[in-house]
Amino acid sequence: MGKKTAGEREIMNFAIVGAGFSGAVLAHELSKAGHEIDVFESRDHVAGNCYSERDSETGIMVHRYGPHIFHTDDDEVWDYVNQFTEFMPFVNRVKTTSEGQVFSLPINLHTINQYFDKTFNPAEAKSFIESIAESNITDPQSFEEQALKFVGRELYEAFFKGYTVKQWGVQPTELPASILKRLPVRFNYDDNYFNHRHQGMPKHGYAPIFEKLLNHPNITVYLNQSFTKDRVQDFDHVFYTGPIDAWFEYEHGRLGYRTLDFVREEHEGDYQGCAVMNYGDQKVPYTRISEHKHFAPWEQHNKTVIFKEFSRACEETDIPYYPIRLVNEKKMLSIYIEAAKQQHDVSFLGRLGTYRYLDMDVTIGEALHASKQILAMLKKHSELPAFFVDPT
Ligand code: UDP
Repeated sequence: MGKKTAGEREIMNFAIVGAGFSGAVLAHELSKAGHEIDVFESRDHVAGNCYSERDSETGIMVHRYGPHIFHTDDDEVWDYVNQFTEFMPFVNRVKTTSEGQVFSLPINLHTINQYFDKTFNPAEAKSFIESIAESNITDPQSFEEQALKFVGRELYEAFFKGYTVKQWGVQPTELPASILKRLPVRFNYDDNYFNHRHQGMPKHGYAPIFEKLLNHPNITVYLNQSFTKDRVQDFDHVFYTGPIDAWFEYEHGRLGYRTLDFVREEHEGDYQGCAVMNYGDQKVPYTRISEHKHFAPWEQHNKTVIFKEFSRACEETDIPYYPIRLVNEKKMLSIYIEAAKQQHDVSFLGRLGTYRYLDMDVTIGEALHASKQILAMLKKHSELPAFFVDPT
C-alpha cells in the first residue's frame, strides 16, 4: 500500500463510495491527515438521505428524504457537527392522531390522562400502567411483547400497532423489541420525543455541513457517478457506504428495506400546528405528516408545505430507507458479511454498508471512530478490516 510518501508519512489514495454522513466524515478526517480522496456519489447531490433544500415554491427548508432532527448524547459528536454549521435550539414534540383524537407522544403523563380520561399524578399513572401492562412478559422478544410489557394492550393498539404495520409491512409480533425501545415512556409531562441531552436543527439545513466536510483540496467529489468494482485497483483502499448487497451485485439475494413515498401539498398559513403528526390508525394510509416550516421556527413563511409519508417495500429502483433485518434478512446478511471479510481492499461502513437502522449521530460517531482506527492502522502498516463495527 502507499503510492507516494511525504517525509515519513505515506500518502494514500482512497476511494469513498457515497457522500452521506459516513462517507463525508471519513473523507474529511482522512483528507485532514493528508490522504487523497475521491468521493463517488451516485445521486446528483451530497448529504445522502439527510439532504435538505429550499422548496422552490414556498422557500421553506425541506428535507427531501423525510424529517431529520439532530439529537445525541455524545458530546464528541455534538461538538463535531457544531464546527460545520450553526445549530438552532429545537425540541421535537410529536403528536399522534388515533381514532379521531389527538394525543401527545412519546407516551407521557398527558397521553395517559387524556387517553384514560384521568387526572393521575406521576405515581398514580405509574401504578395504573403497571396494573394494565403485561408484567408476565419477562424477556420481551418482539415489538409486540415489548409494547405489552411497557404500556399494555390498549395503548399499544392505539399508538403502535397500526403505525408499525404501516411502517414495516409486517405484524409487530415479527419485529424485534429493539425498534420500540427507541421510544421512551414517561410519567411526567415531558413531551420531548428524544431523551438525548443535545438536540437542534442546522440553521441553513444539512447540505452546508456536507459542503464544509467535503471542502478540502485533497477531496474530489464526483456526483452522478456510481463506483464500479473494476476501479478498485486504482486505489489503495475503498471505503464503501452503499448497500452491502449491491457491492456483490446481489449474488446472494436482495436485503429487504422499506422505502418511503412523499406526497407534497401546499397550503396557506399553518396546516397542522406542529412539525410531525403521526397517524396511529391502520385505516389512514400514511404513517405521518411532516410540516417542514415548523422545523425552522426562526423563519417566517406565509405559505406552508406538507408531506404525507407512505411506507412500502423497497423495489429495485427505489431508495432504501429502513433495513428490515428479520430472520431471513439476517441469514442473508451473514453470507454478505462473510463475503465482505474475504475482500482485502474494501471496508464497509454506515447504514447501508452494514445494513443497520442508524441515527445520524451514531453514523457520525462510527465514522469518526473508524477514521481514528484507520489512521492508527496505516501507521502500523496493518491491513484495514472489512468492518469497523460488528454488523451482525
Ligand atoms: N412507532 C409507532 N407509533 C408512532 C411512532 C413510532 O408505533 O407513533 C414505532 C414504529 O414501529 C417506528 C418505531 O416506533 O418504526 C420507531 O419510531 P421512530 O419515531 O424512532 O422512527 P423514525 O423517525 O426513525 O422513522
